[in-house]
Amino acid sequence: MSTTNQPDLLAAAQAILPHLVDLRRRLHQIPEVGLQLPKTQAIVVEELRALGLEPRLGTSTTSVTAVIEGARPGPTILLRADMDGLPLLEETGLAFASETPGTMHACGHDTHMTMLLGAARLLVERREEIAGRVLLMFQPGEEGYHGARFMLEEGILDRPAGQEVTGAFAFHIWTRYATGTVWFRPGPLLAAADFIDLTIRGRGGHASEPFKTVDPIPVAAEVILALQAMVTRRHDVFDPTVVTIAHVDAGTTYNIIPETAILQGTIRTTSEANRAAVHAGIRRVVEGVCAAHGVTPELALTGGFPVTVNDPVFTGVAADVAREIVGADAVAEMADPIMGAEDFSYVLQRVPGAMFFLGALDPEEDPASAPQNHSNKVRHHEPAMAVGAAVYAGVALRHLAGG
Ligand SMILES: [Zn+2]
Repeated sequence: MSTTNQPDLLAAAQAILPHLVDLRRRLHQIPEVGLQLPKTQAIVVEELRALGLEPRLGTSTTSVTAVIEGARPGPTILLRADMDGLPLLEETGLAFASETPGTMHACGHDTHMTMLLGAARLLVERREEIAGRVLLMFQPGEEGYHGARFMLEEGILDRPAGQEVTGAFAFHIWTRYATGTVWFRPGPLLAAADFIDLTIRGRGGHASEPFKTVDPIPVAAEVILALQAMVTRRHDVFDPTVVTIAHVDAGTTYNIIPETAILQGTIRTTSEANRAAVHAGIRRVVEGVCAAHGVTPELALTGGFPVTVNDPVFTGVAADVAREIVGADAVAEMADPIMGAEDFSYVLQRVPGAMFFLGALDPEEDPASAPQNHSNKVRHHEPAMAVGAAVYAGVALRHLAGG
């Protein structure tokens, strides 16, 4: 077992908190969206070099990786932070708000990069305790751009024999929870998120003579309701399913029956088996309802991020590490999965590991009304980053303690 003194890890992280706050604010000011984040990449690279590490840059995106070699041989653990912001106009009122109108770090990925860079410093100072190495993964394009998948395709998990990546860990910060608290869940943590694109093709005409047309609008209405009946009647309530039609577009004015009705929506599931069953069910319902009314459906179901599944054993060990660092009272198991999605799921499909949540609700804010992630008013409480850095480092040290 590890001889790591975990409370010391938190003290060490708290000692570098002023540096982390400064770094986080610099990142917060320069949010970038998508897969190409040159300004963000430059700061990450500079920080890694300052730690004596050799950053490697992605070829298809502005990702960054770096390796912290331990003093003794052993496997590799991957620690991941995402790097991208969101297309939002920031209205936090913070002195260090985004300098780019219309772009904002509203999901806390600025804090993730900062915490991982903080953890890197703690780990560089503790190479003697490491049997193996830590692979730092900084990925762009988490917000729907599949940045993690690009890095996997570039071979970040390809390691020489004996140095295989045997664990992976990531944090996501969240204002839902009290600052500095750590939240975990074995098994499914986040949903798969797939896309529905449906065009119902009829035949337009005068709205006073619907019998001389094929009106797609009532068929669209029936499809929307039939999908909800399908979810509640056909799918196990203990295997969560969400189907939301979020965009409906048909017609132009009072007296024209349009040619088409267009529906778009999202499918959220937390098991691959249920995901496949829901896709099949949507095809069945859409084709059946449309056939009943003599209209033609053009349906595309596009796969988004897969289910994010935490390995139970890894999760248990990491939760123990978190308890040692912040105390058992500040660590809790989540009752339910979250129906959002994450592209760290691609890593967890290949490597046993876990994503945890880190609370960052400012103590002065009301938990009932505090803006949440993806709000243009969200504020993450910066002192939580010390906990994040310490737990990132602690999980790696425990995994690589060399038995
Ligand atoms: Zn996020």
